[in-house]
Amino acid sequence: MQAAILTIGDELTCGYRLDTNSQAISRRLSLIPVEVVLHLTVGDDLETIRSGLRVVQDAADVIVVTGGLGPTEDDLTRQAIAAHFGLELVEDAEALARIQERFARFGRKMPPELLTGNRIQAQVPAGSTIIYNDRGTASGFYLPVNEKHIFVTPGIPSEMEGMLEGFILPRLQDLVGDGRHVRRAALKVYGLPESGINERIRPMLARDRNPLLGLLPHRGTITIEVVATGSTPQEAEALVEADVAALRSTLGRYLISEDGRDLPQVVADLLSERGMTIATAELG
Ligand code: ATP
Ligand code: MG
Repeated sequence: MQAAILTIGDELTCGYRLDTNSQAISRRLSLIPVEVVLHLTVGDDLETIRSGLRVVQDAADVIVVTGGLGPTEDDLTRQAIAAHFGLELVEDAEALARIQERFARFGRKMPPELLTGNRIQAQVPAGSTIIYNDRGTASGFYLPVNEKHIFVTPGIPSEMEGMLEGFILPRLQDLVGDGRHVRRAALKVYGLPESGINERIRPMLARDRNPLLGLLPHRGTITIEVVATGSTPQEAEALVEADVAALRSTLGRYLISEDGRDLPQVVADLLSERGMTIATAELG
């Protein structure tokens, strides 16, 4: 199963803010496994959002949209999705009650001028299932339409993550079924350039291989990510372990960690084993 992610917000397209939602969503989806084939970011403009929807809809069956669900004039995501699929926006009584309850809990009355805005936050395109928001006011929604599965969440990363964990991932797991399990490992290599690693492990880097390996360079350290898929968790785990053992013997002393520790931490641990201490912050 494949997915595309559409992130919405002027703060993203103007460069003020980096789109970290796509990264977080892709990493979680890959574990299901759902393959993310496209990231697209558009500004807060109704027509641009609609053209973005056309692109992601052509690219994949699962579409995750984040941002633009707030109460302000420039938050147009729900309107754009309703218009794109020719659906009415309908108010959800429970979502509205939750917003009112949230205002009451924080000792605030729903201001009349905000009332219309906040009511918008309780509206979803007809046929959607509401995704309630435990961390903010804007509800998300799940819209199965034209054989596509569309999940929409607010842009605020913590609110998006709440809905991802609580709603989207379980739904996708159901859609994909139980037959595929993913396990991964991350090994860090220092002192060998990417080309040197390539040379040593070339056959393992084939794109049609299981496990699938990825090289992620960052500040002189290269992380080798190993992602295995199996029909049982044990099978996936065994595939990962076999690759880790092979990498260990091929890369030898260039392999600095298998447990996510970065170079500064590895150095600090080595020094402390020898009775020396060092503040890791100074190395980082
Ligand atoms: P609300 O208006 O209720 O806060 P919203 O859905 O309208 O929700 P936005 O206004 O689009 O959310 O964004 C709210 C905050 O989340 C902003 O600080 C924005 O920079 C951040 N944000 C939005 N989208 C992303 C993203 N893709 N990655 C990281 N941060 C994001
Ligand atoms: Mg916005």
